[in-house]
Order: sequence, then structure tokens, then C-alpha cells
Amino acid sequence: MERSGGHVTRRGLYSLLVIGVILAALMGTAALLAGCRPAQSAAPPSALEPYRPLLNTWEPEEVRYWEGLPRYTITATLNTAERTLQGKMHLRFTNREQSPIYELYLRLYPNLPQYGGELRVSGVWSAGSPLPFEYDRADTALKIPCTPPIQPGQWAELDAAFTLSWPAVDEGWVLFGESAGFLSLPYFYPTLAVHNGQGWHLDIPPAFADAGFSEAAFYDVWLTLPTSLTLAGTGMQVEEQLQEGGVKQVHWRAGPVRDFVILGHARYQELVREACGARIHSFFLPEDRAAGQAALDYAASALCVYSDAYGPYPFTVMTVAEAPLTFHGMEFSGLNLLGMDTYRSHRDELRYLTIHEVAHQWWYAQVGNDPYNCAWLDEGLAEYSSYTYYARVYGREEAERLRTLRWEGPYAYARSQGQDKVLAQPADQFVSQRLYESMVYAKAALFFDALRRAVGDDVYYAILQAYVRQYRFRIAAPADFFQVAGEVSRRDLTPLIQQWVLTAEGAAP
Ligand SMILES: [Zn+2]
Repeated sequence: MERSGGHVTRRGLYSLLVIGVILAALMGTAALLAGCRPAQSAAPPSALEPYRPLLNTWEPEEVRYWEGLPRYTITATLNTAERTLQGKMHLRFTNREQSPIYELYLRLYPNLPQYGGELRVSGVWSAGSPLPFEYDRADTALKIPCTPPIQPGQWAELDAAFTLSWPAVDEGWVLFGESAGFLSLPYFYPTLAVHNGQGWHLDIPPAFADAGFSEAAFYDVWLTLPTSLTLAGTGMQVEEQLQEGGVKQVHWRAGPVRDFVILGHARYQELVREACGARIHSFFLPEDRAAGQAALDYAASALCVYSDAYGPYPFTVMTVAEAPLTFHGMEFSGLNLLGMDTYRSHRDELRYLTIHEVAHQWWYAQVGNDPYNCAWLDEGLAEYSSYTYYARVYGREEAERLRTLRWEGPYAYARSQGQDKVLAQPADQFVSQRLYESMVYAKAALFFDALRRAVGDDVYYAILQAYVRQYRFRIAAPADFFQVAGEVSRRDLTPLIQQWVLTAEGAAP
């Protein structure tokens, strides 16, 4: 464990906390004054107004909630020759819990062994004064003490300077780094860890499980990079300026999103189409144009089917992109990475992969959950969403066939091997990728299938719509889903939950 940090100063964070309180008090005064003069009682414009073009929904109640979400401003320079990125970040964070926060944690996901990068923080400041910090959790977290603590409702701001380097291979699977000319850098900056009633979440998941666990947040990102690199990033590029020396500066804006991803290739081409209120972008290499067109059409179709089934897609943009993930995919907020093999040798899997990842735009990007302790919740829903897609696009018979092949088969095989597992346990308890997929994907999909059959289609979709409405851009636990399901269906679902989620064949009770 590497430890580092400047001398201890408490003035910086404290002074900003005071500003937070004063501003809140001033806003209260303004509201009172407005109340005396109804003609001027309109709410002041939201500080989030610049993000409005990114969103199809702008309900005052939701916007008020979004104003409490974290806000990142990142400025970074990408050096592709040296494979480094130098960056500075400004983070605004509000304590939305009921108790004081005594320290902040940032996650350094690139330092996970499965990412294989190196993210180092050279300094942390508040209002120009250095703050102490120390690395934690095998360098995948950074601890920053808050003195005095951040009280409920207060906000704090800090700045951090960081340096990133990433691995490179000629070809093959790379979630983080370079492969086959692709540059893929999710979570390239220090990411605010999730804090809730259980404290800070700092788990280190196994390589076969997803790692990123974060609050929905707003991002403004200015990147300086070679003009030769075409980016498929998170959200919307709002500005591009050519500079001397073969570089350009691009400004991206995104939110509320759970991550910001740099994804680029020198030879990326792009197709665009509109579907169900969103502009969909497809990025692909020139030799894969037909598959790039197909991915765009599958994504458009899935976006419309799920908008109809679960509630409208909230963003005005969505992207699908060919990526160095062999025949696998990976979901990020508004951005779906699709393995390049599915554009080529595994072309028959492109459709399924696309509709699975697009479903994550509801079950991850909108409703977040802990990928270490309850991966089955979003993976099961994303997986079983393909039943919805097949039933609505190809008919019920095709959907039933999908269930038999994709979920009943693998789950039956695992049981025949005495490997049935309780879903409600941390990711590393599943031991292997194969078992993880048989349980967290297949068995979980069969739970949602059993639920749909028990309550009927109408009630099933009413449950999912209520779940999205209630937890959009929030984090849900399995108990939250069970509660919504129970309330909407007016049924005791305990036996079903017991059977599929809390127990396993042959496991001790
Ligand atoms: Zn998934």
C-alpha cells in the first residue's frame, strides 16, 4: 500500500462547507421573498440547465433531486504515444444521508488487477488548500478525511490532480487499455465511491463480475487528444476546437450518468438514426459497416421496445460501439460496448448482445445496484429483458424457445452437477465465470420469468415501471425491488423469492 499526502490542513474543506451552508440559507431567503410577490415566484433556473439538451424528461421534482447529485468537472490531456493521461478534476458532493460523513472515498478502478492500469493522485485540494489523503483497498480507493465532518444536507467541493497509464495488447479482450487500435478507458478518473446507510462501498470484485458501482452524476469533460482519434464518449460532445500540433480539445457533457468513458479509434466510422425520442449513434470500423448498421438497428428497436415496456428512455442520445471485447459486451450509461468478434466471426450473437446491453440502460444506467453484492438484480433483469424483446418483436413462441435454450438449459446443467447457488451472495462466492453466468444471469432470469408467470404480464410490467419511476438515477437493493413487486402485485411473493433468490438446491438452509 502506498501512502502519500500533503500536510494536514482543515481550513480548505471547512471554508467550503461554510459557503454551502450560507448559500443554502440565501436560497431559503430568496424563496421567502418570492413567496411575498407571487408574480416573481417562478423558481430560479436550475444550475443544471446546460444539461437539459441531454434529457427527454425535465420534471421539476426530478430536477430538484438531480441538483443533489455529484458533479464532476474534468480537464485532461491524452498522450497516446506515451499511453498516459494527465488530468484535473473538480468534484462537488452533497451529503444526502441522515448522518455526518467523516471521510470521503474515491475509487481508483484502473488499479484493479482486471483493469491493469495505474491511476495515481498527486494532490487533493479544497479551495486551494491541500488536503491529506491515503491509498486504501490495494490502491483501488483513496481516503480523504473530512474535518469537520460533512453534515446532512451540506455539500463540499474538492480538486484532485491525477495521472493515468494503461496497458496495451495487439489484439484480444481489453476492458481497459488498448487493443487492436481501440482505446477504451472507462473510469479513467478518481470516482466518488457509493455511500449509504451501510457506509462506503469499497469492494474489490472478481474479474468475471462488473466492478463499477457509483452514483448517477453530472459530468463536464474537456479532453485534449490527437486529432487522429475519433471518440465515442459518454453523453454529448458539445464543442470541438482544433489546436496546433495535431491536437484538438473536445468538450463532452453527460448526466445523470454513472460513469464517463473514453472510447476511441483512429478509423471509427459513424452512423446515426433517430428512434423513440433518442438520437442513436453507432461506431464501427469501416470493414464492419454492415454489422455497424445492424447494431444501430437492433439498438433502435430495443430502445423502443423497452421504452414501451418499462417507461421512456430518459436521454436524448444513446451510443453503440464496436469495442475490443471479443464476443462480450459491456454496459455504461448511454454507451453500449459490443465486442468486435460479434461484428465478424460471432456475427450471429450481435443481436442478442445488443438487446442485452441496451436493457442495461434501464437496469444499471437508470436503476443502479451493487454489482458485487447483488449482481443478479440488474443482470437478471437485463438478461430477462430479451424475453420481452423476443415476445414483442418475434412472438411468444420464439421467446419461449429463448428461455429454454438460454436459461433453463444452463441452470439445469448446473443443478445436475450439484452446483445450484443462492443468488443473494457476493460475486466471488460463485467461484468461476461459468457458474457466475449460470446463476447471476440464467437463474436470475428464471426468477423474473417465474414472477411474470405468477402475477401475469400486465402486473409484471406495472412492477417494472413502478421500480424505474421510484429508483431512477438512484441505487436500489433487492429488498427495494421486492417491496415494489409486493405493493404493485398485492401478493405475498415470499415463497417465490425464497425459492429463487434466497435458497439453492442441496444448500444448507
Ligand atoms: Zn449484462
